[in-house]
Amino acid sequence: MKKVVKFGGSSLASAEQFKKVGKIIKSDEDRKYVVPSAPGKRFSADTKVTDMLYKCYNEAEAGTDFSATLKQIKERYNEIIKGLKLELSLDEEFVTIENQFKAKAGSDYAASRGEYLNGIIMANYLGYEFIDAATVIFFNKDGEFDAETTQEILSAKLANIERAVIPGFYGARPDGRVKTFSRGGSDVTGSIVARAVSADLYENWTDVSGFLVADPRIIKDPAVITTITYKELRELAYMGASVLHEDAIFPVRKAGIPINIKNTNKPEDAGTMIVESTCKQSAYTITGIAGKKGFVSLNIEKDMMNSEIGFGRKVLEAFERHNISFEHMPSGIDTLTVFVHQPEFEGKEQQVLADIHRLTQPDHIDIESDLALIAVVGRGMKAVKGTAGRIFAALAHANVNVKMIDQGSSELNIIIGVQNKDFEAAIKAIYDIFVTIQL
Ligand code: ASP
Repeated sequence: MKKVVKFGGSSLASAEQFKKVGKIIKSDEDRKYVVPSAPGKRFSADTKVTDMLYKCYNEAEAGTDFSATLKQIKERYNEIIKGLKLELSLDEEFVTIENQFKAKAGSDYAASRGEYLNGIIMANYLGYEFIDAATVIFFNKDGEFDAETTQEILSAKLANIERAVIPGFYGARPDGRVKTFSRGGSDVTGSIVARAVSADLYENWTDVSGFLVADPRIIKDPAVITTITYKELRELAYMGASVLHEDAIFPVRKAGIPINIKNTNKPEDAGTMIVESTCKQSAYTITGIAGKKGFVSLNIEKDMMNSEIGFGRKVLEAFERHNISFEHMPSGIDTLTVFVHQPEFEGKEQQVLADIHRLTQPDHIDIESDLALIAVVGRGMKAVKGTAGRIFAALAHANVNVKMIDQGSSELNIIIGVQNKDFEAAIKAIYDIFVTIQL
């Protein structure tokens, strides 16, 4: 078996955390390829090394003295090296970094040093080979990830190396300049490495024991999702649930490799398995609940709308002209409602309305703002009768007025629109009926 293990910033924030990680890796000899993030926060008011590097580079670029910030960064690493009692000095690396900052090597180069240096420490600590990601992960000249070239070079390189550390978050452009993924991008590197070595499993180690059924800021100690499909994950992530970088799914999904989200601070917890498909049913009919506030609905009325071919297209054209994407569009016989993001819509409201009038000559347009959308997601809903009934009974019981209902044709999710003020109560009611009470 071959496993690729990625550790997030909080798992590598201090020597103490490094020791936990070392133990985890050594306890399973299949954990052969390690992808570290940069050191994250040691406590909630702490600063991530990546943020310190961006700050430091801004100072360098502005021509101000950046030595104090660079010294702080160096201290973060030296604290880890000392705590691990390693015979390792990063002095020379820091001379190079200082010179590169002076030469204005770019903010991507600067940010990438967080993972680069942590990778050197990790390789030294584990006795694994260090591979600079700039030599194996590639972007094209437009700065887009080059999956083909990377797969070819990375898989050939790792075919001859049994155990290695490959820092996350960055790679190189064709001219050799460093380029990073977007924030949180070490998740993506882990996924790319897993594909390149045809791993049996991609373990993504973080500081929570997996995906939670609902947002812990709304539900106290929510249940953990034990198994989730990629499709379900996408639905929940789109609605704001986040643990994993969005782009981390694609490389492993292509290769049929499951992801296991694990907790470095509680390695005995099973965590969440993310899989393409499964015969395992969720424990609670639903897999998860997520939602977002801040939507506007435009309810458009026109007599005989139903027989007017092209009406929907014209309405959507009005939004397209102003570069506004729509979320949902439930329709009745002579009514059609469009849900859009409030912040995106507000500034362009009057122009959009004028265009809808010009393009469709409606009888009436009614606008309602401060709405929230909640997605109740679950592959199990298809096979179970009465799921919608339970949701709406629970919402009625909690005195929540439902503004909109939309069941996706895949029967994978039910989207519910409520007022912002009812958002938390609605999520709580749905969680309770499926998870707490399990009626
Ligand atoms: N260190 C980078 C960040 O803070 C990338 C990562 O941690 O995945 O965004």
